[in-house]
Amino acid sequence: MSVENIKKIGIIGAGQMGGGIAHVAALAGYSVHLMDSHAKQLAHAIESIGHFMDRQVEKGKITQAEMDGALPRISTGTDMAAFADADIVIEAASENEEIKKAIFQELCPVLKPEAYIATNTSSISITRLAAKTDRPGKFVGMHFMNPVPVMELVEMIRGIATDEETFKTVSALAKKMGKIPVSAEDFPAFIVNRMLMPMINEAVYTLYEGVGSVGAIDNAMKLGAHHPMGPLELADFIGLDTCLAVMNVLHEGLADSKYRPCPLLVKYVEAGWLGKKAGKGFYDYSTDIPTPTR
Ligand code: NAD
Repeated sequence: MSVENIKKIGIIGAGQMGGGIAHVAALAGYSVHLMDSHAKQLAHAIESIGHFMDRQVEKGKITQAEMDGALPRISTGTDMAAFADADIVIEAASENEEIKKAIFQELCPVLKPEAYIATNTSSISITRLAAKTDRPGKFVGMHFMNPVPVMELVEMIRGIATDEETFKTVSALAKKMGKIPVSAEDFPAFIVNRMLMPMINEAVYTLYEGVGSVGAIDNAMKLGAHHPMGPLELADFIGLDTCLAVMNVLHEGLADSKYRPCPLLVKYVEAGWLGKKAGKGFYDYSTDIPTPTR
């Protein structure tokens, strides 16, 4: 299939990433169906997309007419059956291999034979996920960055069985969605998270060992390394469950103790302090100015 034949994009998972992908796909003119197993997430995603687009209109990044055209192009639902006429489905559910494999097994019988499947996984092997589908040749990694409407990059990752045509067409689709694709090999966490997550994990160790407080660590990296966000603030923004899942994939996949997840990160996830999306992580977001939790 050439990129011109792609008209309808399915998205699984209406969290921060699925919502963001729906946002850019609808603005690029595609008909989008966003699916989540939790109906509440769908309502929240549509509301967030509306707010984000309002801000883009205010800043002059898009016109009101573009926004008014894009929003009705997004439909939502909790049922996979709506993907029957999708040309590609992008999976952006929680970073958990068992969840993703179960999704692909349910999805494949619904899809038309020529449809592509892409996964937005941050770390899990594309080859292993593809093997759980009926079409490893039409399966590819398409790793968007957060927040999707702002970040230019999409990492494109081939599994061992990915067809060249699939890789080219889905890379062209990323461009049509206003993104710049960069090719990465199918190694744990690919390029960006191979470097970013160990830095975040090290920031959590720095906190755990008492080298600095949350505020000191974030200020040090903002003022001393000119990072736009401190590493702990960034971890909260990404989601601490996602950060831990990626560290576990690096630790298990590369079998090197340097990727050992910090016990404090594990504890925060166990407490349900998953970061901004949960209202609490390394910062508490119930106050106007987020308050450090340590
Ligand atoms: P999130 O927690 O915000 O959203 C995950 C969504 O998946 C939730 O709405 C949940 O209800 C849904 N879900 C879970 N199981 C499902 C199922 N069986 N069927 C349908 N929906 C299901 O997570 P997120 O941050 O949007 O991350 C999603 C994916 O994108 C993960 O693979 C993550 O690694 C990847 N990713 C995240 C970031 C980031 O910065 N957060 C960046 C790039 C890629």
